[in-house]
Amino acid sequence: MNQPKIKTTKIFVKQSIQYWHLLMTQKNNHEELKKKLLHSLKLEIPNIISLVMERTCNLNCRHCCFQTEKTSQKYSQKNNLDVIIYNLVKQMPSAQDSPHFERPCLIHTGRTLKLWHLDILSKVKKIKPDLELGLIDNGSFTNLFESTVCNQRNFPIKFDFIDISIEGPKKIHNLQRDPAGQKAFTTAVNGLKQAKKMLTKDGRLSALMTLTSLNYNHIEETVKFLFSKKYVDELHITTMNPALPKNFQIEISVEQLKIALEQIKKVCQQYKRRIFFKIYNYQDLSKLIEIIGEKKFRQIFINKIFFSTGVITFNLNGLNIMYYPSSMWPLESFLIDADACNRTAYSHSYTLCQLRNNSNFKKYTVTQLTGEENYKQACQKQTMYWWKYFGQEFLDKEQMLFKNIRADHI
Ligand code: SF4
Repeated sequence: MNQPKIKTTKIFVKQSIQYWHLLMTQKNNHEELKKKLLHSLKLEIPNIISLVMERTCNLNCRHCCFQTEKTSQKYSQKNNLDVIIYNLVKQMPSAQDSPHFERPCLIHTGRTLKLWHLDILSKVKKIKPDLELGLIDNGSFTNLFESTVCNQRNFPIKFDFIDISIEGPKKIHNLQRDPAGQKAFTTAVNGLKQAKKMLTKDGRLSALMTLTSLNYNHIEETVKFLFSKKYVDELHITTMNPALPKNFQIEISVEQLKIALEQIKKVCQQYKRRIFFKIYNYQDLSKLIEIIGEKKFRQIFINKIFFSTGVITFNLNGLNIMYYPSSMWPLESFLIDADACNRTAYSHSYTLCQLRNNSNFKKYTVTQLTGEENYKQACQKQTMYWWKYFGQEFLDKEQMLFKNIRADHI
């Protein structure tokens, strides 16, 4: 999960993302640049903890990166998930710390919010009062209102932001999100209506839209629905990541992305700084290059860019596109899974049972966390682990993608 705002602060000391950019656009000194990139990456401690507190979900969405699983509560309890969270949150960087210079943030990334999570989240706020608390949800948190301790007038905690996924108008949303159930849209809209009661005074409510072959042509309609009814403050549009074998069928094609881009450009002009377009994988960047052409992309990617930690933003005919290179993933967040393990990106694609018991999936688990971890050291361990098993390989693929661009530039 990433910060939505495009930061305008200048970076005076080179960050890993700037070395990454040099690696993509310069022809020489690659070994030296790689060393510098890794050195910076290790020093850039994430200010976000991304927390999967429950592995089961009430929906079965077509683009979901998780598999169907049973509740993971027993794993959380057995491995003292609460104690581990408290210990790490206490040590998170503050808004005065580089490279982010932003408040620390804990995001409940799913899969669904449960009653027993609320006590933990409340305590976390007490331990670290400057912490931003975020929730990513499908709208089903409103089920908690049925509980007597947690009705909507007296919700025990306030979030600083809530993101609810909306994939299009009702028919399209229900086609992508749990088509068998046909209730996902109603649940999401109900969530949007109720969410404001669970937000802090300055809290932000946003919608997330994942582009697929099912909804790519419904962006304007979706924006009209969300903004004309004032359901949300912001909309975040992204491509499906990761595209897994189970959802390859609905992966957006080059032609479809081209149509989507036209619509995104229009709505971004209409709702400036309220709609954000983000790409997380090099395969989608490759589609974009195919659409706009290598020559034009080269000009843009060298001249019309700006950096923020882990993100490069480039401007395509007035449209800001935020790209988060996969090789730099550790900058996004420190990931804690439901069984209190620190895991890597893409670990969500496997069940807890597979991750814990099958040696083929061991590489997604950095470590089983204890209640005594040092946050900075744990983050650095995550970075080095990622680099060894995934990061270096992603960097090679990203460099392959930029081969022609680099060669012509020099
Ligand atoms: S609501 Fe989210 S976690 Fe649940 S199935 Fe859908 S995409 Fe997956």
